[in-house]
Amino acid sequence: MSEVDDLRRDVALANRILERLGLSSAFGHASARIAGTNTFLLPTRRSPGLAQADNLLVLDTEGRIVAGEGEPNSEFWIHARLYAARTDVGGVVHAHPPACVCLTQIGQPHRVLHNQGGIFAGGVPEYSRIGLIRSRELGDLVAMTLGQGIATMMRGHGITTAFPDVRSATVAACYLEESAALQLRMLSAAGGDASKLQPYTREEAEFLRDQVSGNVAKRAWEYFAAVAEATPIGGGQR
Ligand SMILES: [Zn+2]
Repeated sequence: MSEVDDLRRDVALANRILERLGLSSAFGHASARIAGTNTFLLPTRRSPGLAQADNLLVLDTEGRIVAGEGEPNSEFWIHARLYAARTDVGGVVHAHPPACVCLTQIGQPHRVLHNQGGIFAGGVPEYSRIGLIRSRELGDLVAMTLGQGIATMMRGHGITTAFPDVRSATVAACYLEESAALQLRMLSAAGGDASKLQPYTREEAEFLRDQVSGNVAKRAWEYFAAVAEATPIGGGQR
């Protein structure tokens, strides 16, 4: 099996993880750059829960379909322009996870409040403009908001993560949603008083920043993949 075949399997699985783990329902998508090129694998315009390795499209950073049958997901510009802006990025996830969406609408920035949140020590900038990313210009705006970081939260919309590979981008998306869900619970337990929370200091958070690298990422991916394979479509918690 070729490297691209392996990548196709990873991309399809990453998409199913997004749906099975409750980060997306009918919408959302994960992609991966074909190494050493300006092209990437992206599912057709369906729920990520329906993605299969043999029905992915190949697009380039100008948003052109290079190979495959069908129409891409309408927010393909997020992926195209992030790969254009960042040669270090090999995997991108865009999803609409509920806890992250809630957090963008209560005036609270993402905070590092538990260990798995440590990877976001550099901050999660917010993309405040509402609506879908259906143009090259808006794709560039998302890439600019994310900058050299690893994630952005998009107001009333969702999240985008960008990593060297699609597995890490997917694991990080799951961590970001877990982190946002815990932040909401902590805020609620604290009567909505954010000053009662005890965010990790920058130093503490930096200490935990390797949560999506090496063996930790491998173990997380293995688990999320197993859950995705064992869960029927629509069976994820939201
Ligand atoms: Zn979206």
